[in-house]
Amino acid sequence: MYRDIPFSPPDITDLEISNVIDVLRSGWITTGAQTKLFEKKLAESCTTEKAVCLNSATACMELVLRMFGIGPGDEVITCSYTYTASASVACHVGAKLVLVDAQTDDFHMDYDKLAEAITENTKAIIPIDIAGILCDYDRIYEIVNSKKQLFHAKNQYQEALGRILVLADSAHGFGASYKGKKSGAVADFTCFSFHAVKNITTGEGGAITWRPDIGLDSGDIYKQFMLLSLHGQSKDAWAKLKPSSWEYDVILPGYKCNMTDISAAIGLGQLERYDGLLKKRKKLIQAYNDNLPQDKITVLQHDTENQSSSGHLYLTRLKGKNLDFRNRFIQQMSQAGVACNVHYKPLPMHTAYKQMGFNIQDFPNSYALFENEVTLPLNSKMTVEDVCYVAEHVRRLLLSL
Ligand SMILES: *Cc1c(COP(=O)(O)O)cnc(C)c1O
Repeated sequence: MYRDIPFSPPDITDLEISNVIDVLRSGWITTGAQTKLFEKKLAESCTTEKAVCLNSATACMELVLRMFGIGPGDEVITCSYTYTASASVACHVGAKLVLVDAQTDDFHMDYDKLAEAITENTKAIIPIDIAGILCDYDRIYEIVNSKKQLFHAKNQYQEALGRILVLADSAHGFGASYKGKKSGAVADFTCFSFHAVKNITTGEGGAITWRPDIGLDSGDIYKQFMLLSLHGQSKDAWAKLKPSSWEYDVILPGYKCNMTDISAAIGLGQLERYDGLLKKRKKLIQAYNDNLPQDKITVLQHDTENQSSSGHLYLTRLKGKNLDFRNRFIQQMSQAGVACNVHYKPLPMHTAYKQMGFNIQDFPNSYALFENEVTLPLNSKMTVEDVCYVAEHVRRLLLSL
């Protein structure tokens, strides 16, 4: 029996809808009480002192780089196997983008190549918690600590840290954990995405958290993000609302990427439901693992001794297959009603990064991953029967194509 299985529809219930209606009726729809409450609950969930909500993960990563004064003359390292946002933020601030390849048969960055890529100009590393599986941060910290003598601090935040900034692109990783620590409290700074296709959504949105134990004053950091994200105004619209408190100062020519209370209201509903959403994802992952022909298809290990993933994406690789086969496979799956995806076309294959001088031939592991990668649909609207339907079509196609 034919089933229509979309890739990642938003999972919105009456709770999110009624939260939004309450905000719309409240007389306050932009950044205000709902956003502050969402920040507070996110920080609790991530076991951090504070969280900052903005309008995207991209804005979050960019503002962290800006707060650390990273710009022209500096280098930012990320992995070639990612979405453009992990790299474009380095370009936004005017830093030099440095890409390192992924590992052999592993979607995370090659840590040996990372260590080789570090110079005295390296100011930040952006590891990607792909699929909601955290990188090996112990290894990354070991590397940045071993390169401490190369580091020259340029502003007070770099000074406080005294080494390269570790800024996690955890767009997929809300709710994951690494060696018992929650995503958000593992890297120095962590950026989450609440874009419509992510495992927790506000339509568009993102959040920043940071480790409380890296020598930074959380109150000060929070204030800096408020300034940077809202025109550098000394008071936000909420604070100016009180009668006769119109007066304000512009402290710096800031950016504009705050979250609205309408978005935060959706996020508060999602967060309240999050444990159930995660449980559902884990159940579907187990059903995939049990039903896919694992002699022909490699699947990701979402939960290991050190890792508990957020179950954001179900990345697979068709063993021994090439690009042409993979593309026909996705085409055939779509005929069966199943929407698949590819995570990722490596950055050096995209025009913008080619024009910066990157060449995919220098990233052989990324190409090998890309060539036979298929991301199967995994979302909390699916049922175990849907998963069995997808798995059945995978099995059939791998025998017949
Ligand atoms: C979605 C995504 C982003 C960007 O998130 P936005 O909230 O849309 O800015 C960044 N990195 C990765 C790996 C993503 O998947």
